[in-house]
Amino acid sequence: MNLFEGDIKQTMTSRNGIRDVSKLWTTRVIPYTFKFGDFSTSEQNTIRQAMYEYHARTCIRFVQRTTERNYIYIHKGEGCSSSVGQRGGRQDLSLGNRCVQKGVAIHELMHAVGFWHEQSRFDRDDWVIIKWQNIREGEEDNFYRYSEIDVSGLGVSYDYYSVMHYSATTYSSDGSPTMVARVSGAPSQFGQLSGFSNKDVVKLNRLYSCSK
Ligand SMILES: [Zn+2]
Repeated sequence: MNLFEGDIKQTMTSRNGIRDVSKLWTTRVIPYTFKFGDFSTSEQNTIRQAMYEYHARTCIRFVQRTTERNYIYIHKGEGCSSSVGQRGGRQDLSLGNRCVQKGVAIHELMHAVGFWHEQSRFDRDDWVIIKWQNIREGEEDNFYRYSEIDVSGLGVSYDYYSVMHYSATTYSSDGSPTMVARVSGAPSQFGQLSGFSNKDVVKLNRLYSCSK
């Protein structure tokens, strides 16, 4: 299951990443609504469980939208997807049927909060080897690396366990790995869906200056 294939809703442009303060939710409050009729009560509770993880471990707060201009519109689209950061106005976040899981919701919300995928980091080539020959034709751009000017690592070292890391076989043409670790002792599987890694929490708290 590679739920995160194509899950970012815009392409990378200059100053579009997490260094761009104008793309953050500066009040740390993120209004959201569920598309009417898309999610059962228990599905809504699953998604709220993901939000509660943010409340428990960061200063970010998801609140039911009333009249706010900028907000996340959570709906049941084709797959799992989100924009990165605050886009202005209503921004769609899709959790299709297979995506209504706490870990997937945490991942997509982390895009909306302002994070790109971990393996796009400027320094990722020190940590993983991209197996370009195993990537499905036409999907190579999903493995581009962002410059440190655009996307900050927030002073946290590369994290194989990040909820924002692709799996080792995402975008594989034949099931063989598209990424392998460069570092000895590293895990053979990357990413996970159980929730935030410890480093994810540190980065969220730094991006939003939660200690201030
Ligand atoms: Zn993603």
